[in-house]
Amino acid sequence: MGAVTYPARAVVDLAAIRANTARLTELAGPAAVLAVVKADGYGHGLVPAARAALAGGATWLGTAQLDEALALRAAGVTAPLLSWLYAPGAAFADAIRADVDLSVGAAWTLVEVIDAARATGRTARVHLKVDTGLGRNGVTPVELPAMLDAALGAEAEGLLRVVGIWSHFAWADDPGHPTVRSQAGVFADAIALAESRGARLEVRHLANSAATLTDPSVHFDLVRPGLAVYGLSPVPHLGDPAHYGLRPAMRLEADLALTKVVPAGQGVSYGHAYTTTRDTVLGLVPIGYADGLPRHASGTADAWGGPIQVGGRRLGVAGRVCMDQVVLDLGPDATETAGDTVVLFGAGDDGEPTAEDWAQVVGTISYEIVTRIGARVPRVYLGER
Ligand SMILES: *Cc1c(COP(=O)(O)O)cnc(C)c1O
Repeated sequence: MGAVTYPARAVVDLAAIRANTARLTELAGPAAVLAVVKADGYGHGLVPAARAALAGGATWLGTAQLDEALALRAAGVTAPLLSWLYAPGAAFADAIRADVDLSVGAAWTLVEVIDAARATGRTARVHLKVDTGLGRNGVTPVELPAMLDAALGAEAEGLLRVVGIWSHFAWADDPGHPTVRSQAGVFADAIALAESRGARLEVRHLANSAATLTDPSVHFDLVRPGLAVYGLSPVPHLGDPAHYGLRPAMRLEADLALTKVVPAGQGVSYGHAYTTTRDTVLGLVPIGYADGLPRHASGTADAWGGPIQVGGRRLGVAGRVCMDQVVLDLGPDATETAGDTVVLFGAGDDGEPTAEDWAQVVGTISYEIVTRIGARVPRVYLGER
């Protein structure tokens, strides 16, 4: 399978990723920017996204999975790099040898990181993760004193360095939400406790994209934007990407596989959820749910589904989204033919739908739309340098 024959593609504008990161760097200053490139760079491609973010001014990178961090190192990316989500048995020794900073947010993780440091003869760099209220990863404030004792004890033995304290917001997309203030307060207390016990921290970090864009008071030393790096708004109810000086980097396109004339009353796609109301032209778009289109973006007799731009018109999925394809009702006067390119989403400045538009149609967030674009869809890069 190659970019030459696959009839759909995600075109990724690396210049947009660089510019978005530069914008975030400007907004965050004096805090530094850690660009989150987990989930294959939010679907944009791990290594190209990482390199573009670094070129745009990010000085750190972050991935959830350790495998993604190791893949960055294998590709020759040398920037400071944090990984944060593991189950017991993770390749901590490989991470330490590869200079990957490790998040420790559970007692078992500290034990395994210490073992790995002993095995490698190297000093692990650790960021202690505090659950300041998200109720997800990290040690609770109650567990923190014991964690600090254990981690700083291992630091005294030269096995690790506690270089960071960090946490994550529950509700940063609602900037006035009381949990934002309370989490920031718990975080400040955790930092004070760590420092009072002798931690010599390099970085304190809490802010995701939403907090980076909306709340400078929680930037601390380092911000961790993900979505905004790719030019999407984490707070679409407050502002679109342009409002924040961002530009969506991914454009999802497909080439029509056929067009054909059908009569009024023709049921379209599985279950005939859509039926033509006049003689018309159907267009077959060779991209489906196995490529990451949500099946909930199916169209019905009453309403088209996921929006698709054809020529200058905005149409929508007619009938069910299938595994590999969707159908458009191009209208009786359509002049399109097989091979013509249609746009599922893009930056939006040419009238094309955006990932946010798709998210609204299916009741999700743009994060899910871009990260679920399947591995079999070729990524084509623009703006390389
Ligand atoms: C994904 C993630 C981020 C980035 O979140 P965005 O909302 O995409 O900016 C930051 N920190 C952690 C811990 C994450 O898991």
